Amino acid sequence: MNNRHLQDPLTGMGNRQSLMAALQVRLDAIRHSDQQAALLLVDGGRLKKINDAQGMAVGDQVILQIAQRLQGFAGSSWVVARLHADTFACFLENPGSTEDALDQAKVLLEFLAAPVVADAESVPLCPRMGMAFYPRDAATPADLLQAAEYALQGAKKSFLTPCQQFDFSQYEVQKRHLKIEKALYELMDQGVVRQLELYYQPKICLQNRCVVSSEALLRWQHPQLGSISPAEFIPLVEGTSLGVRLDRWVLSQVSEQLACWVRQGVSFPQVAVNLSTAQLTQEDFPEWLAARMQYLNLPPACLQLEITEGAMISNDQMAFDLLHRLQHLGFSLALDDFGTGYSSLSYLSKLPLDELKIDRSFIMQIAHCGRSLKLLESIVALARNLELELVIEGVETAEQLELLQPLGAMKIQGYYFYRPMKASDFTGLLSDSTSLMFF
Ligand code: C2E
Ligand code: CA
Ligand code: CA
Repeated sequence: MNNRHLQDPLTGMGNRQSLMAALQVRLDAIRHSDQQAALLLVDGGRLKKINDAQGMAVGDQVILQIAQRLQGFAGSSWVVARLHADTFACFLENPGSTEDALDQAKVLLEFLAAPVVADAESVPLCPRMGMAFYPRDAATPADLLQAAEYALQGAKKSFLTPCQQFDFSQYEVQKRHLKIEKALYELMDQGVVRQLELYYQPKICLQNRCVVSSEALLRWQHPQLGSISPAEFIPLVEGTSLGVRLDRWVLSQVSEQLACWVRQGVSFPQVAVNLSTAQLTQEDFPEWLAARMQYLNLPPACLQLEITEGAMISNDQMAFDLLHRLQHLGFSLALDDFGTGYSSLSYLSKLPLDELKIDRSFIMQIAHCGRSLKLLESIVALARNLELELVIEGVETAEQLELLQPLGAMKIQGYYFYRPMKASDFTGLLSDSTSLMFF
């Protein structure tokens, strides 16, 4: 190859620029035909580990051997290039049907999966492949490369499918998620939070049907994307600093609302706020929250914090200490979505909890599954023995309510009584009703 700037110095193969130039020529040539073409990206899978453990020189040998294997395997019409690190591209012109191309890719994957020998040692590889098709997935070289890159990222995350083809619908979901994350960052940065609003859902006492507490739930109305459910956007920020900021914004809003009820002379029940995973890694959180409540002259016990088991798994001891500090300061603590995690029972004995919220999936099953009802009865007994308050989430029908009646004292949160409502409607409910039990 004469053009040095198009050549990868380590392997002597074409580099990314040379690939893009070749793609432009080849795609132009078949643009008006009914031929398809495939771009296959291959990643050796273990280069970082090899570099870290055995040094960059061994890493280079591994890259060279992958390159040699690829060149040995490639058909005469293939364009092969090294993109970066141990990631290579193969362009297959007219590879037959999509299935044919995938079959070829799988054979190549097996061929590449054998260990290489570097520095007189056997070095295992863990190759991954992503594939995109012209014209099905993209019309230009840049878009084709991006689509194949996206498929490769999917393959790298998967144990079961080390060779993946581009999936447009998945790509759209990921693009939407990136948009949502970006929009949420911007909202928090600008302090413009008019698009966000808190709704309140009452929790009802099963025995006397009074409102005994409530949960604050976020709603987001985006000018272009419309209404975005917290079930979609919260998981995107759960473990991040954005989750931490969002939680604190929610807590600020809710405490303002509590102070507002105090000023208006409205009696109000305890309000629960959901905490994201990352909040329990923030050393300053208990004191931050206590200071906020003190500033507004509110007793901490009018706030409940809902956590999930997921929040405990990654940061055990620190999270336990933090929860103990929160309880010591007077905040109430609830374990949310109980029954959906992995190690519920061991956590139950360790966490300083006041309340257990049984996940909606239980109530959905009890009407048509006797064993689910038995399981629910056992959980109720367990919560009683541990002196925990109990909430059943997601009660929607009179039939479900009837099945719960014999189980004794508990709180009910569900559409059967109330859907989450605007703060103004909830204030109206609190002001009007004669049958509320207040905090
Ligand atoms: P969650 O904490 O389990 O909240 C209960 C969810 O169940 C809410 O969904 C609520 O509207 C819904 N729900 C209540 N009763 C019923 C019912 O009878 N039937 C059905 N089908 N659903 C019912 P929502 O508001 O969409 O929130 C989804 C999740 O998003 C919440 O689940 C919570 O994990 C998270 N989330 C919501 N707001 C916040 C927030 O301010 N901060 C954080 N960190 N997470 C939040
Ligand atoms: Ca919750
Ligand atoms: Ca829940």
